[in-house]
Amino acid sequence: MCGHVRRGDDMQSPGLVTTVLGRSLRLRCPRCGEGKFLEHGFTNRRDCRICRLRFEREEGYWTGAIYVNLITTQFLIIGGVFMLMFGTDLGLWTQISLLAAVGVIFPVCFYPFSKSIWLGMDYFFTGATWAQSPSEKDSPPLDSRS
Ligand SMILES: [Zn+2]
Repeated sequence: MCGHVRRGDDMQSPGLVTTVLGRSLRLRCPRCGEGKFLEHGFTNRRDCRICRLRFEREEGYWTGAIYVNLITTQFLIIGGVFMLMFGTDLGLWTQISLLAAVGVIFPVCFYPFSKSIWLGMDYFFTGATWAQSPSEKDSPPLDSRS
């Protein structure tokens, strides 16, 4: 039995925020928490292999993930500026070089997580209203098969 959250179940309860965020950070399906989000490398699966939740909802769906990535990177850089400015004796150009490297490397590594977080946010706020996708209608969740 997986931790499947059904449509209509108190979708916006405070406990569900941490549950869905935790699942997103572990790159798991926001609905069941068991299905893997990534197929391989940075490529995400089309849907959850366990509960059949469709991950890519529509064309251009991952645009929101770019904002998640951008905002997270900006907070990291701003925090890094203050940490380096007040917590180290590094020279200005060394600090700028470090932060520039973080600004280039972090968003690339964080991209799969930003997509998973975006999916989790979308599922948290609007999941109760998601109509079943054709792939969900064709095959029931694995936990209901017997
Ligand atoms: Zn799932």
